[in-house]
Amino acid sequence: MIYLDNAATTRVSDAAVDAMVRTAKEDFYNPSATYKSGIEAKKALSLARKAIADTFGCAEKEIFFTSCATESNNWVLNCAMKSKKSNFIISAGEHASVYECAQAQKNKGYELRIAPLTSNGTVDTEKLLALIDENTALVSVIHASNETGVVNDIAAIARAVKSKNPKTLVHSDGVQAFLKCSNSVRTLGVDFYSVSGHKIGAPKGIGALFVSSKCNISPYIVGGGQENGMRSGTENTTGIAALSAAIADFKSTTSLQSIRQLSDEMEQLLLTVDGVQIVGADTARSGFITCFTVEGCKAEIIQTLCSDDGVIIGRGSACSSKRAGNRVLSEMKIPQSRIDGALRISYSGSNTSDEIKSAFEIIKNNINKMRGKRIG
Ligand code: PLP
Repeated sequence: MIYLDNAATTRVSDAAVDAMVRTAKEDFYNPSATYKSGIEAKKALSLARKAIADTFGCAEKEIFFTSCATESNNWVLNCAMKSKKSNFIISAGEHASVYECAQAQKNKGYELRIAPLTSNGTVDTEKLLALIDENTALVSVIHASNETGVVNDIAAIARAVKSKNPKTLVHSDGVQAFLKCSNSVRTLGVDFYSVSGHKIGAPKGIGALFVSSKCNISPYIVGGGQENGMRSGTENTTGIAALSAAIADFKSTTSLQSIRQLSDEMEQLLLTVDGVQIVGADTARSGFITCFTVEGCKAEIIQTLCSDDGVIIGRGSACSSKRAGNRVLSEMKIPQSRIDGALRISYSGSNTSDEIKSAFEIIKNNINKMRGKRIG
């Protein structure tokens, strides 16, 4: 089987599995316990926090563990609003965990403003800036799109937002950019940055949120006061230890340059097929995601045929596959006939050039098969 849906989730790395097993069987103590084993368990949390803080270039006390990036995003959108007069802005390219949460906040009475996308998939910064006023509490813009891999220039956006209203807080969903783009939160200039473990070789169910020490945000989940009173609930020590191991493993085994070569190779091959277009081809994109459209084909049929042939590829965001259509591609004004045939290939450090060539042959054959059926 050739697995090319790594933006949906990744195989848990061996290093992360070892860390999970060790934490589950041996270092299983409650990190809040005051006896020696509990104190040791707490040290393991500090190591993981340091691994993320080092990646983000921030202080350890600015990192909070959550259950997933959906929780991190919900935390920010639920707790960053200052008063009922506050409005907030998201880009039209957000993942459902921001987009749907924003709709829920709107239903609670906060004014939601949505900044449109340009046709290349980045947020339209000028239009976003025009939406900011003195009551804008928060701006949330995704770093790398889960649908297209298109990368927003978060540093430039945050700078422009702050120069229009220095009090506006800036959040970025960094899930698809985590370890894949520059994650220095000081360079990005964000107040909040969300990440998830299962996109980089950690198990599902562990996420984190960077909260700048300069900004005040209330806790979203309250209770026993863990995470410095900011996120209650006994820490997921197995997940956290695995996340720390996965980060180290990813950094030592995944070459961003090699991944870019794989995606370049796949895209060059795909473009030899009639009616194929790469989405966001002319803009900065993560090398980890290729979104392409096949004119006149139904993506779900190609995806199923490829899966029957042992090649797993994605079709837009797996998290929102139950919803009809593709909101982000529609926002880019891609015609429906192309959106119907939109597929997503996403890579990991364990993919090889041979896999790319074999997967391409299978994808091409299935496109031809489908077209043949249609004509015949
Ligand atoms: N944000 C983006 C950009 C994603 O791609 C995903 C998952 O696909 C999420 C948020 C949600 O992450 P989690 O599964 O950790 O809740």
